[in-house]
Formats: sequence, structure tokens, C-alpha cells
Amino acid sequence: MNNIYLDHNATTNIHPKVLDAMHDIAEYGPINPSSIHTSGQKGKALLEESRKLLSSLLGFSEKRRDYQIIFTSSGTEANNFVISNFLDYDIFISSTEHVSIYEYSKRFGNVHLIKVNRNGILDLDDLTLKLKNSQSATKLVSVMLANNETGIIQPIDRICQIAHEHDALMHSDCVQAIGKINVDISELDLDFITISGHKFGGPIGAGALITKAQHHLRPMIIGGGQEKSLRAGTENVMAIVGLGIASQLAKEEMLNRALKMNKLKSKLERGITSKKAKIVGANVQRLPNTSLIINQGKKSELQIISLDLKGISVSAGAACSSGKLMESHVLSAMGYNKQEMDSAIRVSLGFNTTEQEIDEFIKIYNEING
Ligand code: PLP
Repeated sequence: MNNIYLDHNATTNIHPKVLDAMHDIAEYGPINPSSIHTSGQKGKALLEESRKLLSSLLGFSEKRRDYQIIFTSSGTEANNFVISNFLDYDIFISSTEHVSIYEYSKRFGNVHLIKVNRNGILDLDDLTLKLKNSQSATKLVSVMLANNETGIIQPIDRICQIAHEHDALMHSDCVQAIGKINVDISELDLDFITISGHKFGGPIGAGALITKAQHHLRPMIIGGGQEKSLRAGTENVMAIVGLGIASQLAKEEMLNRALKMNKLKSKLERGITSKKAKIVGANVQRLPNTSLIINQGKKSELQIISLDLKGISVSAGAACSSGKLMESHVLSAMGYNKQEMDSAIRVSLGFNTTEQEIDEFIKIYNEING
């Protein structure tokens, strides 16, 4: 059997139809959407088409002009961008945010960490109390919809409601949720959301910050007037086209993908025989594709290497760019001890994961973990 890739929360396959569309753009020749000539105009039209496809996935119409899409290079950039606009605000984030929110706002902002419970769900009383006690007239709440390590889904509608009741703006990092569960930005009444194309069938190199149009942001990257002067730099047209097509496909296929992944995830979790193994967040709503498995006493690193030697790619929940494992601030915030944190592996499925791959994973996981 070929390599079994079960690390789709890190990055997932580029959908073949996305590849086709990107290939067509590459074949067309040079495109810079800022140019006046025909090729530049084509670039502009391609960007607008991608905006339309993305807005349709997120449940709003760009035409109504109540939300706008600012393309970025990544989810990380979009997260840094939104926080960079509110450094003089009181910022309230969950203690399980992605590092691009967590580290950036801790480093530069006036940040308040909101507790989560043992299941990783935000403590709404703690959020309410901290918002109430804030002396600041300007506040931002930033809570992710779904966690990248555990897949745990936050009650984001309720969190958004509490934020607005306390006159705070609401941002949600929806990078892991998009394409896996339905996200309707206007129904949720979110002020800002972050997305990233390479997590749902697009290429690495295109993400977006989506904002209610009434909020006027300052750019973080300054230069040419791209993206209505909100994000300078020649747009990565090929990747943005890929993001657009990936959005269209995610909208069309989401339900089937979610049903399929959920079924496989349940099979995987049921198939684990080790008595010591436990699934993080087993009793709360999680993404249909993510299982974080703790098997106390079995080091994550050893498990990952053993699985890799058998042709299976998974990760620990948290890894830094050097490939070394870091202590997970997510599991730590949920109250797991060091031994538990050191023995977690994340298995994340993709829309193309097959039942045979899951059967093979179960067999090898059980052999390794006894
Ligand atoms: N937010 C979450 C929840 C993520 O999982 C990731 C990536 O893993 C990011 C943000 C960053 O996205 P990108 O890889 O596009 O920078």
C-alpha cells in the first residue's frame, strides 16, 4: 500500500479540479491584476470570481456589500492582520487558540486568556466576567471555531452573542472548520473571520480575512494599492483561483465529505483496542475528521516514527517548524498532565481518505500500542 497520509489538518490534498484550474492559469502566461492591459484585466476578473465563490461558501453575497474579503498569503497572516488592528483594545482569546493568534496577541496586545473546561469548551462565565471587568471601552474577542489539535468545536454563536452584548467585536479563526462543517458568517453575526485555502483542497499560499464592511481596518502590509489598499503585494492569482475553486467544491461536496469522514473517524476510534487509549473531547462536538488519541506511557514521537516506518503519516497535536514536538498549550489549558501531553497523536482524515486506509491504520496502531 502507498503512504497513508492522515495529517490533513496540517495540509491536505489539492483537489484535482483545483489543480486543473491552476494549471490553466499557468498556461495562460503572466498575469498581474494591477496591470491595465488584457492580461491584467483577466487577473482582476479571476480575483473577483474567487471572491464570489468564497462568499457563496460562507453564506453571504459580496454584492450586498455587508462583508468584504481581503486575500492574504495564509491563515497566519490573516490572524496577525486582524489582531494588529486592535493592539490598543482589550483582547480576549481562548487559551486554546492557534499560535498565530495566541503568540501574536500575547507578544503585542493587551490580552486576556479565557479558560476552557476539561473538554476544551470555552468557559462562558469566565468570558462574561472578564468582559464585564474590563475597564476598556474597546474590546475584541477572538475564539476559533474548531481546534486544530483536537477538532473540538466551540459554541461560537453563543460566544459571539456574549461578545456583542458587551460591545466587543468578534473574530473567529475558522481555518480548520471551513470545508468540514457549515459556516455561515452572517447567520453567526461574526465581525471577522480567518480562512486558509490549503486546509480544504486549495493550494498553500492563499488565505483570507473576511470582515464586516463597516469595520475599517489598517493594512499590516503596505506598498501598492492591492486589495483596496488593505493588503499590499501582487496577488497570488494562481493560488487565489485555487482557493475559489476549492470553495465551490467544498460547498458542493461538504455534506458528503463530512458524512464519509465522520463514519471513518468513528470506525477508527472504535477500532483502537488499547485500554489506556482515550480520545480527547470524545463527548463533545468535534470536526468530522479529527481524533487526538492519548495513550499514556507511549511517547508521541515514538508512535509517530513507528507509524511512519509502516508508511502512515500522522502528527502530534503540536509541532514547531523545526519538526520538534512542543508541549501543547491546548492540552495544558484543558488540564492534561505532562505524561498525557507527551503521548498524544493527532489523526486527521481528508476527503479522499479510504476505508482500507483506516483499516490499515487500526491494524498497525494496535500492533504498535499493544
Ligand atoms: N489557524 C488554525 C486553526 C490552523 O490550524 C492553522 C494552520 O494549521 C492556521 C491558523 C494557520 O494557517 P496557515 O497554515 O495558512 O498559515
